[in-house]
Amino acid sequence: METPPGECPQCWYHAHFSREAHAHLAPGQDCPACVDHMRNGCPGTARN
Ligand SMILES: [Zn+2]
Ligand SMILES: [Zn+2]
Repeated sequence: METPPGECPQCWYHAHFSREAHAHLAPGQDCPACVDHMRNGCPGTARN
């Protein structure tokens, strides 16, 4: 799996493979990684 250029690998993965990326979360629980990027932006990308 390759992240498209300019995309945040974490956000891309969590968006497109949500079931895998969030498999460890309880139902309805927020994903800490996603919340972190939503609030603080994505390190290493221009999309802040
Ligand atoms: Zn997530
Ligand atoms: Zn991100």
